[in-house]
Amino acid sequence: MITEQLRGRNIRDERVLAAFATVPRHLFCPGASLAEAYADHPVEIGYGQTISQPYMVAWMLEAARLQPADRVLEIGTGSGYQTALLAQLVARVFSIERIPELLDAAREHLGKLGAENIALLAGDGSAGWPEHAPFDGILFAAGAPAVPEQVRRQLAVGGRLLAPVGSRFHQKLVRVERLGEAKYREDEIGGCVFVPLRGACGWSD
Ligand code: SAM
Repeated sequence: MITEQLRGRNIRDERVLAAFATVPRHLFCPGASLAEAYADHPVEIGYGQTISQPYMVAWMLEAARLQPADRVLEIGTGSGYQTALLAQLVARVFSIERIPELLDAAREHLGKLGAENIALLAGDGSAGWPEHAPFDGILFAAGAPAVPEQVRRQLAVGGRLLAPVGSRFHQKLVRVERLGEAKYREDEIGGCVFVPLRGACGWSD
């Protein structure tokens, strides 16, 4: 996975690659065979959701330019795999998942790794987690119709937000950097396909 799917596609951040080497992906998709768990595509985790393709996760993590002291918000815990990678890369991870059964499974799997820098919340994360803002990084793990303004405001100055933005079926990966109190820079870094972000600031059910 690391040699062919990540290094082979130009993932160069050694901290991100080391996190992939540390976190056992198969722990987070127990219904899949070992070969499936490390395959070059998303894998179903139940409730119509998926654990994202390894390359897509690595691409987002690299593009977020994460630093060891960062506090990061993840919207869409899913299996908890990206949460576990984030816990290796930054000081504190806040992650929200709207499907309680998925969050329970993620909590169980994350517990096996003994990471103590993760806070999990069940509910609609489409408006962020204002009580813990500001965040140095915000990662949407589901596709949004637009970057919600109230989540953008939860970025610290200097922080980076990554979100798939577009239709329900195809999105552009957008990176927003907060340059100042009211100054943001936004760029599109490529195409992607994510499950839809539901909820108040996402798509309706
Ligand atoms: N990166 C995750 C992983 O490693 O398993 C995959 C996340 S999966 C592609 C997207 C997740 O976002 C799903 O579990 C879905 O239930 C969740 N989701 C969608 N809308 C949400 C919302 N408004 N708040 C929280 N989670 C949401």
